[in-house]
Amino acid sequence: MSFNAVAAARTILTRLHDVMASRSGAQAKLNTVVEVIGAGLDSEVCSIYLLREGMLELFATRGLAQEAVHVTRLAIGEGLVGTIAEHTETLNLAEAASHPDFAFRPETGEEKFHSFAGVPIVRLERAVGVLAVQHVEPRRYEEVEIEALQTVAMVISELISNADLIDDESHGITHGQSGSELLRGLTLVKGLAVGTAVYHQPRVTIEHVVAEDTEAERQRVYLAFDRMREQIDRMASQAEFGVGGEHEEVLETYRMFAYDEGWSRRINEAIDSGLTAEAAIERVQQRTRMRMRQIDDPLLADRMHDLEDLSNRLLRIVSGQLGTAASLGLRNDAIVIARNLGPAELLEYDRRKLKGVILEEGSLTSHVVIVARAMNVPVLGRIRSVRGKIRDGDPLLLDGDEGVVTVRPAAAVIEAFEERTAKSRERQAAYAKLRDVEPFTKDGERITVMINAGLKDDLPNLALTGADGIGLFRTEFQFLVSATLPARERQTRLYRDVLEAAGDKEVVFRTVDIGGDKALPYLRQDEGGGEENPAMGWRALRVALERDGLLKAQARSLLEAAGGRTLNVMFPMVCEPWEFMAARDIFEAQVAYLRKRKKVLPQKIRYGAMLEVPALAEQLDLICPHLSFMSIGTNDLTQFLFAADRANPKLAERYDWLSPSVLRFLKRVVDGCALHDVSVTVCGEMGGRTLEALALIGLGIRRLSITPAAVGPIKEMVRKIDSVEIGDAMAGWLRAPPPNLREVLRAWAAERGAVLE
Ligand code: PEP
Ligand code: MG
Repeated sequence: MSFNAVAAARTILTRLHDVMASRSGAQAKLNTVVEVIGAGLDSEVCSIYLLREGMLELFATRGLAQEAVHVTRLAIGEGLVGTIAEHTETLNLAEAASHPDFAFRPETGEEKFHSFAGVPIVRLERAVGVLAVQHVEPRRYEEVEIEALQTVAMVISELISNADLIDDESHGITHGQSGSELLRGLTLVKGLAVGTAVYHQPRVTIEHVVAEDTEAERQRVYLAFDRMREQIDRMASQAEFGVGGEHEEVLETYRMFAYDEGWSRRINEAIDSGLTAEAAIERVQQRTRMRMRQIDDPLLADRMHDLEDLSNRLLRIVSGQLGTAASLGLRNDAIVIARNLGPAELLEYDRRKLKGVILEEGSLTSHVVIVARAMNVPVLGRIRSVRGKIRDGDPLLLDGDEGVVTVRPAAAVIEAFEERTAKSRERQAAYAKLRDVEPFTKDGERITVMINAGLKDDLPNLALTGADGIGLFRTEFQFLVSATLPARERQTRLYRDVLEAAGDKEVVFRTVDIGGDKALPYLRQDEGGGEENPAMGWRALRVALERDGLLKAQARSLLEAAGGRTLNVMFPMVCEPWEFMAARDIFEAQVAYLRKRKKVLPQKIRYGAMLEVPALAEQLDLICPHLSFMSIGTNDLTQFLFAADRANPKLAERYDWLSPSVLRFLKRVVDGCALHDVSVTVCGEMGGRTLEALALIGLGIRRLSITPAAVGPIKEMVRKIDSVEIGDAMAGWLRAPPPNLREVLRAWAAERGAVLE
């Protein structure tokens, strides 16, 4: 049979366009549609099944018995039609009855038709119906015919959604799953959240499928391709500051796909068949998705992800729907879903409506997670292929304590969740009662419990938690949320606000730590020389010393803001004493400058170093005499100690903070600093976890700076323990480490009634 699928699809589409524009009712339209398709594809049978009340119901047919319409109903997964819907896949069979899933329905009179081809009618990635053709003669349909069917299925999808013919969204199905579903992930930030799913990069909604003017659509796609390729080229040539080798590889793949002639040709063919630019891109993407699904290869799945990204990018450009969910604004309580996010991207969200975050990747100490923790927003990471399981607008219960998310929860589950939320609030209220209670151990040792902060919005946490101060103020957060480098006056204003909010309490400012996973859009990576390994690259104090304009401006701001009071300032990523000295000299030069101009200087300046790079621990005797204090950043320290990228999700659970390596290392630092009477604080995420904090106290640490939500639980634990007892126990464990120190510590704490997670 000579069959021109493109021409056939085009003829059908033109006719369907008229049908859709007509004033007839939805059922009449569907009846005409099966006639048009049947005639256009020269097919003896053409039937449309649509999802109603969870069943696939025969809505219209040409060729089968009319009595079967609205009578024949198949469950998802039942018969050929149910199988197509369940797996969102196409079936093409010369002999339908011999297929294992075939289910005979006598009322249809289909026994005389041997061949069968069916395609899913897809809406928002879910099968909402099936379009099928049948012939008397046993034959397989040609690929071009199947393609024509798939194109037509898209148009039907638009028609039925406009006509409100199918179940509302809650009944759509995907990969055989409907109703409620429980997805497991890795807890990155604890907490409970209720909200609707919002994709960070929203899916483009395709308004029109059938083109009015094919040439115009072709032009739109050409232009979109040009713009997309420009974007990718620009991204590749000026990769943002702080991106590494892996990112480059991704960009290379992007580029390969972006310039793939086969891809653009297929889109063009789809336009030839009468689709709009958007529908053509989506049509080609659907086809690729279906093909890829048949190949079970994780590497290909990753590539698929890239291709999806690119296809979505093209769709966003062509449709002009460019914003992220943050820029479009959250409407309700939302749980934002993304493959990964940068800290700045997270900070763009309205904090009142952002209730939770789900990441396909993510790790405990990545900065986006630290920011989320500071915002008290629960985060679940490492949930693969979310797109296939959660759709925009789905109700979600995010349980950051158990590491699960319930999608489309049943009423009983919501109730149980609400009970737990209430309990958790009670627990919070109990912790709030500890606000004014000083954290003394049973033997009278006062533990200083401070909070980590970075933005003005964090300041109320000081009063709310009753913390002793801010032990780490991450000044780079202000840089991350700004579109441009914050002017000196703006920095001064923020620092002044922080000091005022703190009153008599201590505040420790950390000078900017940019680089690594804290990329600034206005600082390009080429200034860092195109880094393979940004966490170990040109970041933190290294940038600050080389581009000292930045540090000078910050020094001036801090000195002015702290006029008349004590300024505590520390430098990140100090590796060798000279780096600390050089940074301190930059501050001292600014002191001299301000003194000459008779400005009010701080009463006292205390300079500290962060110990985040193991090398510094070997020179404690050399650096300590110059220090007012030391602060251990365990997030970076452990990534360097274990040579395990803190942002790499694959390594997220591999190493334990309670391993003898970490604890013995910290013990040496604590003892080394004690020799010089230099106080030590731990300000990494480790200190905010109850068991870890207990271990730190056992090592002799008396100062913690932690995430605000952890202040209550940590104070509670402190009040239950004896510092000498844990010190002795820890000394024993370090000498002869038990196989699982975490378990031993947990048992120790449980015996003493210290409430632990
Ligand atoms: C750390 O590395 O532990 C730390 C506190 O600094 P940051 O997490 O900002 O790198
Ligand atoms: Mg650090």
